[in-house]
Amino acid sequence: MNYPQLDATISAELDKLSRYSFEVGPIRPPSEAYSLLLRVTRNCPWNRCDFCPAYKGQKFQLREVEEIKQDINTVKAISEVIEELAWKMGYGGRTRDVAGAVIQTIHYNSSVQNVALWLYFGAETAFLQDANTLIVRTPELIEVIKHLKQTLPSITRITSYARSKTAAKKSLEELRELHEVGLSRLHTGLESGSDMVLQSIQKGVTAADHINGGRKVVESGISLSEYVMPGLGGKVMSQEHALETARVLNQIDPDFIRLRSLAARNGTPLWEKVQRGEFIPLTEDEMVEEIRMFIEALECHSEVKSDHILNLIPEVEGNLPDDKANMLGVIDYYLALSPEERLNFQLGRRTGHYQSLEDMKDVGKYTRVEQMRKRVESSGNDIEIVTARIRQDFI
Ligand code: SF4
Repeated sequence: MNYPQLDATISAELDKLSRYSFEVGPIRPPSEAYSLLLRVTRNCPWNRCDFCPAYKGQKFQLREVEEIKQDINTVKAISEVIEELAWKMGYGGRTRDVAGAVIQTIHYNSSVQNVALWLYFGAETAFLQDANTLIVRTPELIEVIKHLKQTLPSITRITSYARSKTAAKKSLEELRELHEVGLSRLHTGLESGSDMVLQSIQKGVTAADHINGGRKVVESGISLSEYVMPGLGGKVMSQEHALETARVLNQIDPDFIRLRSLAARNGTPLWEKVQRGEFIPLTEDEMVEEIRMFIEALECHSEVKSDHILNLIPEVEGNLPDDKANMLGVIDYYLALSPEERLNFQLGRRTGHYQSLEDMKDVGKYTRVEQMRKRVESSGNDIEIVTARIRQDFI
C-alpha cells in the first residue's frame, strides 16, 4: 500500500503496521469501547438465549494459551511501530498524537484500529472476549492475565464477560487469585431475576445461580457489573420481571447495574415468538413504567448505568440509595408528559435528534421532531411501530 502524501520512511512504517493482525471477537460492553480487545475464547458455550443474536450458528472454542500470548505480543509490536511513527513524525514518541492518524489511515485493519484506539484513549484498559471467559481453567487464565500485564504494563484495568453459573462453579479462592493477578471487573448478563422469565428465554441459569455466582464475585473483590434487560418478561410477566430482578440484585449488591432495554432482533428465537403472538413486547411507555417499578424496589448500593443506546431515557442513572429519588423523578417527569410529547420524545430519541429528555426543551429540535411526527402519522404509520423498527437497527 502507498501513502503518497507521506514521506517514504513514514509510508514504510504504515505499510509495516498494516500487515499486523490478531484475533478480535465481535462484541464488547458499551463501557469497553476504548479497551484493548483480546479474544481468549471464541463465541458462547451456552448460545441458547432467545433474544441473543451474538454468536448464533458459531461453535464455542477455547483458544490455546500460547496463541493468546502471541496476540498480546502482536499488540506490543503494533504499539512499538506506532511509537516509532510518533518519533519519526516529530511527536517525541507520544503515541496518542499519531494514533488518531493511524485510525484514519489504516481503517481497513481491525487489529491495528483496535490498538490505535486503545492508545489514543490512554492504553489503560483491556477486555477479554468472548461471552464467558471464566470458563477457561483458572491457571491458564492467570497465565494469560500475567502475560498481558507484563507485556503491556500501562494496563491497569482488565475486564471480561462471565456467566453467573460459571462464576458459581469457581471456588472463592480461584476468583480471589484472578483478582490478585489483575482481573478487575466481570460483566454478567443477569437479564432477569425471575425464574419464570429466565426459563422462558432459555437463559440456562436460575435466580439462585445468579445470587451464588454474583455474591462470590463480589466477595472475591472483583468488581461486578450486572446487565438487566427491561422488557424481557413481555406484557405478561412485566411486574414479576421487575420485582424479582430487584430482589436478586438486592442480594448480590453488585458494583454496577446496567440497563439494556429489550429489542427483539429479527431472526432470533424471541423474534419468532413475537411473530407467533407468544411474546407480547412492551410499548416504550410500558418499558419506562417497568423500569420505574424496578428502580423503586432496589435496596442495594450499586451504581445504576444507562449506557446502552436501546434505553429510552439515558438520564436514569445514579448511585443507590442516594440517587433513587432523582432517578424516579426523571421517570415521573417523562410519564407526566402529554401523550403527544411522549411520542415526540420517542421519535426524537430514536432518530438521534435527542440525546436526553433535556434536549426536548430546545424549541428548534422539538419543532423539527414534531413536524416529523406529524408527517409519519399523516402517512398512516404508527410512531410506536416506526420507532420499534429503528430500535432493531441499534442491535
Ligand atoms: S449467554 Fe450471553 S452470549 Fe451466550 S447466548 Fe446468552 S446472552 Fe448470548
